Amino acid sequence: MTQNLLSSTLDSQQNWLITTHKGPDGDAVGSVVAWAAYAKRCHKNYLILFPDQPAAYLCPFLEGYNWEVYDVNKAYHFDLLFALDYNAPSRVGQDMSDFVADYPAVKVMMDHHPGPEDFCQITVSNPKACSTTEVIYQTLETLAQLDQIDLHVAKGLYLGLLTDTGSFRFPSVSADTHRMAAHLLDLGLEHHLIHEAVYDVNSVTRLQLRGYAIAEKLQLYPNYRIGIMSLSKEDLKRFDYQKGDTEGLVNVILSIEGYDLGVFLMETEDGVKLSFRSKGQRYVNAFAQAHFNGGGHQYAAGGFLAADLHTTLAKLASLLAQM
Ligand code: 5GP
Ligand code: MN
Repeated sequence: MTQNLLSSTLDSQQNWLITTHKGPDGDAVGSVVAWAAYAKRCHKNYLILFPDQPAAYLCPFLEGYNWEVYDVNKAYHFDLLFALDYNAPSRVGQDMSDFVADYPAVKVMMDHHPGPEDFCQITVSNPKACSTTEVIYQTLETLAQLDQIDLHVAKGLYLGLLTDTGSFRFPSVSADTHRMAAHLLDLGLEHHLIHEAVYDVNSVTRLQLRGYAIAEKLQLYPNYRIGIMSLSKEDLKRFDYQKGDTEGLVNVILSIEGYDLGVFLMETEDGVKLSFRSKGQRYVNAFAQAHFNGGGHQYAAGGFLAADLHTTLAKLASLLAQM
């Protein structure tokens, strides 16, 4: 049984390497923080290892924890590798994916993305869960470890819950989600401070970039109920783009009356990163997988095309009827 195997593995292994996906979001950082805080409680030696630098607004949550960005020239000696908030080695990015796939330690996945790949000895996957931190909470419950959740663990768990549910509004939120949140608040968690730390840290240029994107870079296709927003490298430079500045911007499209599918494109040095969001009867993960080398959840998916913005927009426009 996974539960017994996981329990004995956690008990017997002292050195935990905690990893998450590239471009870590609130659920990714919340998951590694919660698990590192739990590792501390269990007197384990641990390291949080990111594929790349987390966005500045998430870094305060990492204060007091051992964390690094993966260095291909460095050796990492741990008995256990945790894969949190991702379901395939490719999600940690090209530089680190072989490291994860071939890492000579027992691997444990805790995640909520559908279709987990078979690269971990222990896979705890619940695609119905609203966030990976909810999966972690459920895992601690199964292991009879809920009483080990202190305020530090709670802070990480809540960060993931808040950000992956769009502040408790997506269909993935269940009564259990609210019961979990209630438990965390019972511990004394100041939820409004987490909300402020995530959502009230805008720079003026960040807001201007978002305003510009809405005012000047949004194309609407009312017949398809689709909105497409894009930012070029020049746009990003003009508004002093910092990592995380466009996080969640795609959701603005879904807030327009009569629209239920939004795409956001951002040009990078090597191609275009796409974010898809939908609601109701429309799903985006299969489309992102089929046409843009990506995937994700039914209502939130991503992808990437090694092409310029113009080419990517043209490809999208040719596929409107298939979205
Ligand atoms: P975002 O638009 O926030 O970058 O990504 C939304 C969701 O899509 C993420 O939670 C993740 O599940 C998924 N996702 C984003 N980019 C990729 C990708 O390149 N490949 C896959 N398989 N999933 C992705
Ligand atoms: Mn997640």
